[in-house]
Amino acid sequence: MPHPALIAQDAQFRKSVIELAPGLWTAVGYAASNVHMIEGRDSVTIIDTTESTAAAENILAAFREITSKPVARLIYTHSHRDHVSGAAVFAAGRALPILASARFQSDLVDVDDARIAPNRALGRRTQAQFGIGLSPRERISLGCGPGNRPMQGLGAGFLPPTELVEADCEIDLDGVPARLIMAPGETADHMMVWLPGPKVLFSGDNWYHAFPNLYAIRGTPYRDFAAWADSLGLMAGLNARVLAPGHTLPVLGPEKVQEVLGTTRQAILHVMRVTAEGMDRGLSLDDIAATITLPDDLADKPWLGEYYGKLAWSARAFAAGTLGWYDGNPTHLGTLSGAARAERMARLAGGVQALWTAARGGDALPGDDQNGDDLQWRLELCDHLIALGEPAATLKAETMEALAETEINATARNTYLWEARRLREAEDAK
Ligand SMILES: [Zn+2]
Repeated sequence: MPHPALIAQDAQFRKSVIELAPGLWTAVGYAASNVHMIEGRDSVTIIDTTESTAAAENILAAFREITSKPVARLIYTHSHRDHVSGAAVFAAGRALPILASARFQSDLVDVDDARIAPNRALGRRTQAQFGIGLSPRERISLGCGPGNRPMQGLGAGFLPPTELVEADCEIDLDGVPARLIMAPGETADHMMVWLPGPKVLFSGDNWYHAFPNLYAIRGTPYRDFAAWADSLGLMAGLNARVLAPGHTLPVLGPEKVQEVLGTTRQAILHVMRVTAEGMDRGLSLDDIAATITLPDDLADKPWLGEYYGKLAWSARAFAAGTLGWYDGNPTHLGTLSGAARAERMARLAGGVQALWTAARGGDALPGDDQNGDDLQWRLELCDHLIALGEPAATLKAETMEALAETEINATARNTYLWEARRLREAEDAK
C-alpha cells in the first residue's frame, strides 16, 4: 500500500477549472502543472502552458467553454519544462508574444556539445523522479501533481519566449492592469504575475501545497534558499486575496494566503538555521539529515508535508550549496572504493554470508522498521554485496520496492520503483 498521506495529497489536484475572481481562471489537475487564463476586453492571456500538447489541448477545450476570445499572449512564470511544453497548442500556429524573465533558461535547449556535463545521468534521474514508464498503479503521484494524466506530446509543444523582461514592470493585459515581478525561488528565472485590482498573485512554483523542492533529486544546481525565503516575504507583502500557484489548488482568502506564505518562508529559514548550527557544532551531514524535523507549529501545516521537497535532502543541499561537498570531517578527505569498503565490511562481519543474512533482514533491531532505518540498512548492505560481485540486485530491487511503500515523498517513491524496475530488467537480460 502506498503511503496514505501521499494518496490523500491527490485532493490537491482533482481535475477542475476554478474561477479565482471575475474573468480569472485556473485549470488544476489536467497535468503536472496548472494553466491560468486572464480574460481581457477582447482577448485572453495564458499564464504557463503545462507539460504536454495533450494536456494543453484538454485545458484549451475547457477554457473555450468559458470564452471564445482569442489568445493574445503567453507568459511563462519560469523555464521548467512542465510549464512551457504546451505553448504551441495555445498559440495555434500564430506568432504570439511570449513573455518570460530575461534570466529564462529553458531545459529544452540542447546543451552546447563543447560543454562537459552529465546529461545522460540527468536524463535518467529525471525519468526516475517523475516515474516515466511506471504503471499507473506504481506512479500514483508526482507530489505536486497527478501521477496519472495524458502523456502524449510530453515536452513537444515548447515555443521560445519572444520578449525577455529585464526587471519588474507594469503591463496592460487587454484592459487588465498587471505587474510582472522578478522573484527568484524554485528557479532563478521566476517571474510572477500580480493583478493589483482583484489582488490575485500567479506565483509560478515559488509556492505549492507541499514542502518546497529546495533540491530536486533528478539533479539541480544549488537553489538559493535565502533568495527563495526573501521572495516568499515579498509575496506575503502584496497582501493577495488569492494565491494561484503553478501546482496544486489555489489558496483563497487573504488570511490563508498570509499563513501559507509566512509558514513556508519560516520552514526554509528553519532548514537553513538547523543545518548551519549543526555544521557549526561539527555534526556530520548524516546526523543532520537523519534528525532534521520541522518545529511543532510548522509540522502540523498540511502544505508543508514532504510530498515533493524533503527536509533531509534540503539540509544536504544547503550544506553543499554554502560550503561545498566537504563536511569538515577529515575522514572524508580520503576515499575507499565501494569494493574496498565492502571487502572490509565482509571481513568484519565474519564473511560474505553474514552480509547476506543481514541484508535479508536477519539482523533487524527491534523497532527499526518503524522509521525505515531497517530497510535503509538492508539497502546499504545490498550495495556492499553488489560491490563484491554478489547477485544481490533482486534483493536490492525488493528492498527499494518496500521502501517506496513507506515513502510520503513522491519523487523518492517514483525513483525507488523506477530504479527497481531497471535492476530487474538487467537481471532478466542476463
Ligand atoms: Zn513546476
